[in-house]
Order: sequence, then structure tokens, then C-alpha cells
Amino acid sequence: MTNTDQRWCNGCGKFKALDQFYLKNRSTGRRDFLCKSCRSTKTREAGSVVTDGVSGWAERNIRAKASKLGLSAEEYRELRDRPCDVCQRPSTEDAPNSPMVAPDDAVVGTWCRKCASAWGFLGKDVATLDRLRALMAKDD
Ligand SMILES: [Zn+2]
Ligand SMILES: [Zn+2]
Repeated sequence: MTNTDQRWCNGCGKFKALDQFYLKNRSTGRRDFLCKSCRSTKTREAGSVVTDGVSGWAERNIRAKASKLGLSAEEYRELRDRPCDVCQRPSTEDAPNSPMVAPDDAVVGTWCRKCASAWGFLGKDVATLDRLRALMAKDD
């Protein structure tokens, strides 16, 4: 049933001739999951992110996130680029911080992913956090 000279391209969603796929590994004969034309489109898109600094997609993404929080894109970027208000971790390109949102949806500062998840693990409950803090606090 399988025609070995054809390969499915995830990008265009159809079978294409094998030579339309880049060889990823010469010894195993493993080929790219995208055909050459889809691969070059994808590479171009990825490249534009690097060269422009902010791609159209990233900009739209920030605007969408910002408007959800009732912020302007500028305000969002400013908060994102600040160090985490909880653990002081600086915002990096690989792991950017994000605006901190209180249970009543108010934006109250900046936090990193770890602190945001920690808050989630604690059930987003200030009373729980208070108990934890009381137990952890050392007496002078
Ligand atoms: Zn394709
Ligand atoms: Zn943090």
C-alpha cells in the first residue's frame, strides 16, 4: 500500500516525491517532515522574527495578551521586561516575565513563570500563602 517514493508533508498536507524532502540523517535516511517548499517558507518566517526583532505575529500576540489585561502593548512590554517582583529574577528573552494578575484580575506587578506557577500550586489562595509564610518565618 505504501509507496516508498512518496512522503507525507505536514505542511501542505499531501504526499510528495521523496526528493522534495531534505535528508536529515544520511545514515538512517531520515527525511524532514516538511517538504522543501514548506521548509523554506517556515525558515523565512522564523528568520523574520530574528531580523525584525519583533515579528508581526509576536506583536499581535502581545497586543492580544495586553488587551485581555486591560493594558496597552507598551504597558505590557514594560511590565514583562521588569525583574520578578517576587524572586527578583530578571526577564530574559528565553524566559520572559509577565504581568502579575491578582485574583480580582487587577494587574499588580511582574512575576516570572516559576512564581506564577508557585502561586497556582498554592491554589491562588492568599490565606494559604499567609499560613505558609507564618510557618516559615523565623522568630528573631
Ligand atoms: Zn509541503
Ligand atoms: Zn519570580
